[in-house]
Amino acid sequence: MTDPVEREGGRPDQASCVGPDPKVPQRWALFLDIDGTLLHIAETPHGVHVDADLFDLVRRLHGAAGGALALISGRAIAEIDRLFAPLTLPAAGQHGLERRDAAGARHLHPLPRGGLDLARERIAALQSANRGLLVEDKGLSFAIHFRRAPALAALVGRAAEELLAVLGEGWRTQPGKMVVEIKPAGRDKGSAIAEFMAEPPFRGRTPVFVGDDATDEFGFAVVNRLGGVSVKVGDGESAARWRLDGVAGVRRWLERCVAAAPP
Ligand SMILES: [Mg+2]
Repeated sequence: MTDPVEREGGRPDQASCVGPDPKVPQRWALFLDIDGTLLHIAETPHGVHVDADLFDLVRRLHGAAGGALALISGRAIAEIDRLFAPLTLPAAGQHGLERRDAAGARHLHPLPRGGLDLARERIAALQSANRGLLVEDKGLSFAIHFRRAPALAALVGRAAEELLAVLGEGWRTQPGKMVVEIKPAGRDKGSAIAEFMAEPPFRGRTPVFVGDDATDEFGFAVVNRLGGVSVKVGDGESAARWRLDGVAGVRRWLERCVAAAPP
């Protein structure tokens, strides 16, 4: 059994104790990243599959949290729905740029359109000149994956900066695991969690957020500020107060959360 390891002040050098229980509050609002948290990261974003055990776990967690469960991902919501079909859960996609609340209403962050057409041309050219790259146009953001061509990391970094110059004001880069995302500024996983927490059935509950990557740090910061439970998956510096060692550990821990939930 893997217990979350508490990190005082989020400093990995001060790992202090192994928690005796999941530390899940009675009335929790659960926010879960997908890739690297619930699912192992695949070579391509389309290479993942939600197995029956995970589907059932998420469905039971959603019930145990009184509906206060949201998936918080860099994927577009359409992709999240495809993965978890036929479930349509509250979700934030594209790092908070799109959100579906518990009532099913969609919220979209406006897209600064200035240099978008030219940027799309540049991205297409980048893809065709470097077959090892995988470029995703997610509608409100772009992702350049170099997992199949790690040697292109520096080139991708430079290309992302050039794209920012083309796109103009209001765009940012977001580095992740073997990926650089290019997205409008102003929304992130933390803002998405804060928005959910202002709405039923999340409002009044204690937020719990589990994630594995740099973009999840925005979520950890919000959850820490709200007095919630922040859980980093895997190694690396993090503001999260708890730690799980990988996807299998996350799933075991979540099973314990369901088991510990009041009827
Ligand atoms: Mg992740």
